[in-house]
Amino acid sequence: MTEMACSNCKEIFNIPKTKRPICPNCKTLTLSENWSGLLIVLDSANSEVGRKAGIKKEGAYAIKVGR
Ligand SMILES: [Zn+2]
Repeated sequence: MTEMACSNCKEIFNIPKTKRPICPNCKTLTLSENWSGLLIVLDSANSEVGRKAGIKKEGAYAIKVGR
């Protein structure tokens, strides 16, 4: 499993290496292993950082996603 972040929605997923990396949220090939920064949103409704980043659901997010 590889931790990959989506360059579109920024969420981090554990994706098997052999699989084509499709973001489960966006259904696009926007996942990248090249990401940095980690933002954990536990309560999206009450999270200041989550609101600022436009995050609407709980999860682990990357701050920066490369290609
Ligand atoms: Zn996505």
